Amino acid sequence: MHAEPYKPPRLVHWTAGRPSGQQEAGRQGAGQGSATGFALTVDVEEWYHTCLVPEYVDPSRRPALREELDWLLPELLALLAEAGCRATFFVLGEVATRLPARVREVAAAGHEVASHGYLHLRAGERSVAQFREDVRRAKSELEELIGHRVVGFRAPEWSLRVASNPRLRVLSELGFSYDSSLAPVVGAGRWSNPCGPYTLSWADGGELAELPPLTFGGLLKLPAGSWPGRLAPPRWIARAARRRAARCGPAVMVFHPWEISDRPTPGHLAGFARFIHQTGRDGYRTKLSWLARALPWSPIEEHLPAPSGEQRRDTTTDSPLPAGEAA
Ligand SMILES: [Zn+2]
Repeated sequence: MHAEPYKPPRLVHWTAGRPSGQQEAGRQGAGQGSATGFALTVDVEEWYHTCLVPEYVDPSRRPALREELDWLLPELLALLAEAGCRATFFVLGEVATRLPARVREVAAAGHEVASHGYLHLRAGERSVAQFREDVRRAKSELEELIGHRVVGFRAPEWSLRVASNPRLRVLSELGFSYDSSLAPVVGAGRWSNPCGPYTLSWADGGELAELPPLTFGGLLKLPAGSWPGRLAPPRWIARAARRRAARCGPAVMVFHPWEISDRPTPGHLAGFARFIHQTGRDGYRTKLSWLARALPWSPIEEHLPAPSGEQRRDTTTDSPLPAGEAA
């Protein structure tokens, strides 16, 4: 079975129209969604989890570094509560191991807890088997922690890059319903990646929804959730989100807890890593707070298509985990 060459999935683009909450199960073709709306997402990692600095990311090489999430996460929860919105938190596994109570607080506040992998290492720099083991461990530890299934994944540094990456099939096999890693952005992904949501559909019936991060600036496709988005007036980002939602949502906004810190970065970053971290940081907390109030954000899982078959039902009930997960 494994000797056969990998066959990439078919892409089934979602159709614009009714909000996802108004869909009726069975009306859509398999794997097809129909959604509008706005999804706010947070990649839960420390300031030093940048793939540009391998000695920080790899725990076996990491020097003693000051950490911020223990106080940043409560601040972030307060900011979102004041804005009256809920989000998806893509939690890094090693953060969940260190701060389990904080992750439970995120879930208890009504946010979706999803996975950002266990270690913040690029997917493409590890074998498919290593990637599978990292993600399986991260998913199962998070589920143990919060007491229910984790259905969403985002790769460290968008490192799945393209829909033909066989690691996306691994996510489907491990029981994820969706991925949010394929940025339509030069560098982080591919400019030619679709901007709107779609479903990856494999010949054997496997499926995975893909919800790309929001861009702005038209065909420039600038990331709304990195330094270009921090530099832009928040009204520009809100306008891009409304356009995306109207065309075929959800508009998926991305940020990191360290971006809302009013304090200086508590350790050394150099070169491009420093540029990415520092550019547009002044006043970003205020911008994000405005953006959080400006649109009716909700977690990604609430924008997924209604279940349309056996596989979908697997991911939304307490049925046994897929066989691939037992390994
Ligand atoms: Zn990350």
